[in-house]
Amino acid sequence: MDILVVDDDEIDFLHIKRTLKKAGGDHYVAHVKTVDDAIKEIGDLLFDVILLDYNLPQRDGIELLLELKGNPVLNKTAVVVISTSEEESVALECLKAGAQDFLVKSEISPFRLHRAIINVQARFKLEQELYSSYQKVKNLAEKDSLTGLPNRYLFDETLKLSIQKHQRTEHYLVLMLLDLDHFKYVNDNYGHHIGDQLLVAFVHRINEKLRSNEVLSRLGGDEFAISLSALNTPQQAAIVANRILKSLEEPFDLNGIIINTSMSIGLSVYLHDGDSAQELFKNADIAMYRTKATGRGGFTFYEESMQQEMLKQIDIENNLRNAIQNDELTQLYQPILNTQTHQMIGVEALLRWNFEGNFIPPDEFIPIAERSKLIIELGQWVIRQAIYQLSEFNKNNAAPITMAINISPVQLSDTSLIDFIKSCLKEFNVAANMIEIELTETALLINDDQNIVAIKALKSLGCKIALDDFGTGFSSLSHLKEYAIDTVKIDKSLIAEVTEKEKVLMLVKGLTYLIKSLGLNAVAEGIENEAQLAVCKKLNIEKSQGYYFNKPLESHVIMTLL
Ligand code: C2E
Ligand code: CA
Ligand code: CA
Repeated sequence: MDILVVDDDEIDFLHIKRTLKKAGGDHYVAHVKTVDDAIKEIGDLLFDVILLDYNLPQRDGIELLLELKGNPVLNKTAVVVISTSEEESVALECLKAGAQDFLVKSEISPFRLHRAIINVQARFKLEQELYSSYQKVKNLAEKDSLTGLPNRYLFDETLKLSIQKHQRTEHYLVLMLLDLDHFKYVNDNYGHHIGDQLLVAFVHRINEKLRSNEVLSRLGGDEFAISLSALNTPQQAAIVANRILKSLEEPFDLNGIIINTSMSIGLSVYLHDGDSAQELFKNADIAMYRTKATGRGGFTFYEESMQQEMLKQIDIENNLRNAIQNDELTQLYQPILNTQTHQMIGVEALLRWNFEGNFIPPDEFIPIAERSKLIIELGQWVIRQAIYQLSEFNKNNAAPITMAINISPVQLSDTSLIDFIKSCLKEFNVAANMIEIELTETALLINDDQNIVAIKALKSLGCKIALDDFGTGFSSLSHLKEYAIDTVKIDKSLIAEVTEKEKVLMLVKGLTYLIKSLGLNAVAEGIENEAQLAVCKKLNIEKSQGYYFNKPLESHVIMTLL
């Protein structure tokens, strides 16, 4: 065993050395007389035990203990303090300062010294283990293991502290919440392992754009936060947000997988938008949500009106939940005509919600229903009602009409959708090819396996597929080919300008040419006047729909038209 004796008294040292010899065992014993020499010695060599005299000239034993305690590089050795004092307070002081044991000089015997040396080593090892597991737990509690960023817990604590400190300054404190857009898409399509890589690469890139006082934290998943204090104006936070957004313009290259991403950011200002961490979080979240709703990839400061808007939406959602049971839903049917002959060849089912005497338009409640997945239940009601109604329309009709049903992308992700449609067709004895499912391009953009499976299953069931609102979004040629679309509906916003703007006319001409050359049917929706109809006739758009012919009508009115 390698032992260092720190004692200024030569006689005492020799006594200890003799006692060690008597205690047996093979010892190397080094001797220094001062704390400074001890530190030098400990820095050079690794000892098993230090026997430390309490009373030393210049700096005493306690000082060495404290020095070792504060220096993890030096603190590798168990220490027994040896003192002439029998006082308990001295012993306690030494243990507190980091010694593992305390012996009174007059009581030292070979047996006692030997036992002390063995015990302190075991004790020291235990202490070290305990300390390192404490460090690990502390890290786990405060650091995110994937990115190494402070986690939610640490961020919360830091924000609360900033708020406390902030009360004494004139500056602004802003909470920034950041959410990676379409992260789920990355996970679903490339796997979690690429998702993780993206997060790490993202954190690395953002951190390069941040100053030392702008600390990025990971709240969980793809959610991050930064608290910005000491701002002269809240607008300075906007500058930081822009810096972050700009840094994401360049795509990420993850071992050859190129991923484009953006962030939705929400900001709340201390005192202006809330006086507690909780309030600031809630409101920055609302603002972030607004960014997402208005197209993602940007930032929004919280405004009080958003709170009202949010509450209104929650209200609508709650009421909508009961709408089905309370019989508040109705369906209107807008005729779709042969453009040349004006004969009604089909109808489109359009949903209405009669809430407390008011008809709420679908544009207002469908997005809310989609977000809460309520659309799945609502959509089933729509499908069953439409198929039932079609069977009624065609009962005594020599030239049967078709029924167009709007289906939201969220419904496609419902694995029971196909079976549900099948059972309704069977129940009301309706042929699948009389049903046209209207999808918007967003449904095709979500390159989800389940969506593709659902569209193919609808197709093989015999239903027709129509692409709604064409000309507003991506209007991608590949979508038209890939998904075996039957019909393309040219959006009403284009029809509205087709007689006024030469450019729009050219665009509609081009789209129609494209649709026809792929062998698909074209429908012009939103025809409101004679002139628009004339254009559609000239362009040979087969089908037309719009207020010029009919508004969405109740079923009994359709019956009379038939
Ligand atoms: P959409 O599928 O593009 O439906 C056509 C919308 O244009 C309907 O609005 C219709 O009333 C309106 N419209 C028809 N002709 C004209 C016209 O000449 N001029 C103008 N300005 N508008 C016209 P509505 O009924 O308010 O529906 C709005 C949207 O709500 C629909 O757009 C559709 O995306 C959605 N929606 C309606 N019913 C359902 C449904 O049952 N399920 C789903 N998922 N979405 C639905
Ligand atoms: Ca539609
Ligand atoms: Ca449409």
